[in-house]
Amino acid sequence: MAAASGLSSDALADSAKSGKPAPAKPLTIVERLKRAGRLAALAETRSEHAKRQWEHLASADGAQCREALKKTGAVFRSLPDREKPDQKGCGIPHGVIVTKGPTGITYAGPLMIDCSLALTLPAVEKVIQEEALKHLGEPITRVTTLGTYSCRSVRGWKDRISQHALGNAMDMAAFTPKKGLPASVMRDYQIGVDQPTTARGRFLRAIYGRFWSEAGVTRVLGPEWDAAHRDHFHLDSGLRFWQR
Ligand SMILES: [Zn+2]
Repeated sequence: MAAASGLSSDALADSAKSGKPAPAKPLTIVERLKRAGRLAALAETRSEHAKRQWEHLASADGAQCREALKKTGAVFRSLPDREKPDQKGCGIPHGVIVTKGPTGITYAGPLMIDCSLALTLPAVEKVIQEEALKHLGEPITRVTTLGTYSCRSVRGWKDRISQHALGNAMDMAAFTPKKGLPASVMRDYQIGVDQPTTARGRFLRAIYGRFWSEAGVTRVLGPEWDAAHRDHFHLDSGLRFWQR
């Protein structure tokens, strides 16, 4: 129960990962970091943080990434590469717009993300399709997204740029199988329930858990995390707040 005490080194990650209900009194990210003893992460200025996150993405080889993305079978178009972020620190270093993923999932709306994040789609969709076949008996053909690129700060923490501002995050709200009703995070995700009572609930619980270990992303947030994520799963590949 390291998550509840909030004192272990990876308390932040663990608390979301464990799938246990959030503490009764919701904590801000800043409060969570303080509890986890991550004071160094709080000392960094917004511009230092933004620069570090930008360089992490920009240092990758965009052309090589797009070659690799083509081979996955994803359908996408490329945005012009950016040398540097805009004045607010926003922008996508090696942007792509993905309309269809490697297993044929249509993204509505399309994912406007950095190519490096798009390369996680084979692993993300593998999890989605395996659990869809198991729980819903049908593959997923459409994922409803709530937005990908957005020039803004982390909610509740204006000193930190959001991974959405770098095209390094995606929000998934509903998963529609070939036949049948969509599994909606808002409607079908049962918070704090280890054995959901519906097939769609079991599907959502299963993919949320597996995204953490198998999707190749840094962070997965959902309804268990806070109210701002009640209606979607957020996946991003940002450096951790304290990573150097
Ligand atoms: Zn998000």
